[in-house]
Amino acid sequence: MIVLPDADGLRRAAELLRAGSVVAFPTETVYGLGADAFSEAAVAEIYRLKNRPSWNPLIVHVADVPAARKLAASWPAVADELAARFWPGPLTLVVRRADHVPEVGAKTGGTIAIRIPAHEVALKLLEAAGIPLAAPSANKSESISPTTASHVMRSLPDVPLVLDGGPASWGIESTVVDVTGAVPRLLRPGALPLRDIRDVTGKLQLPDDVADGSARPSPGMSKRHYAPRARLVLTPEISDVPDNAGVLTYVDRPGAEVLSADPREYAADLYAALHRLDDRGVATIIVQAPPETEEWLAVRDRLSRAAAS
Ligand code: AMP
Ligand code: MG
Repeated sequence: MIVLPDADGLRRAAELLRAGSVVAFPTETVYGLGADAFSEAAVAEIYRLKNRPSWNPLIVHVADVPAARKLAASWPAVADELAARFWPGPLTLVVRRADHVPEVGAKTGGTIAIRIPAHEVALKLLEAAGIPLAAPSANKSESISPTTASHVMRSLPDVPLVLDGGPASWGIESTVVDVTGAVPRLLRPGALPLRDIRDVTGKLQLPDDVADGSARPSPGMSKRHYAPRARLVLTPEISDVPDNAGVLTYVDRPGAEVLSADPREYAADLYAALHRLDDRGVATIIVQAPPETEEWLAVRDRLSRAAAS
């Protein structure tokens, strides 16, 4: 059921969470499927509903930095600096997990991923529930992330409650950075641009598949994720378009879904556009490949995974 995030809606959502159930809620990145991070059963329900592979760990959402530090065994200076600059916001930090904190879903070798979401409703919910919330995107595993409450309902009709906070402003998942080593390491490109992170950290280690700037995972490694129902084809040049295909581009083209040529605006609309194309029932979505620059890294990462079969 979709519920307005007024006092009554927030109270009901917090009660469900404290009782070990799941609730979908808006964040600035995408909608999350939240559960008590300390409850093994509640976390298991996230995996069951999403059909999420058991090896894929969850991000824990908290309301403030002291709550984040409580989950961590150690809190490096660079975590403090990144948190001060970007939290609340679309940056997830991977730190060493405190001994008293249980594994949140998948085994992670003693680390935990944490962020403070920059969304009034998410923050109010965290405050009302009074517990850290494990929350991946509120959709079936591998499919397109939800940027509206109705996307959540379509993908996960069994979720007992979805707080409706309107469309997500960033529309793409958080940037994940591991700060457990000597040099911060990018684990997943996302909403927060890398240049903003480097402004704080100086160095940032990139995974091999993005280090060359192509963000094209080698075929064997590329995991299908963020994928529409239709087959997605990425191409530098769009020429012939079959009748049962839809087109997604960032330059004017009749009949196409035309998104902004600005990477942040493009990312904000990307998942909604893929949902719309799926709703049209097209067999194939032909996507004009975005520029091979770092600002487009997160978008290219999502598109290349959506295109992987
Ligand atoms: P999602 O919530 O589905 O958007 O994805 C969460 C992302 O965070 C995935 O890429 C996870 O692999 C990553 N993640 C969560 N916890 C950890 C952790 N402890 N160490 C490394 N990556 C993590
Ligand atoms: Mg997801």
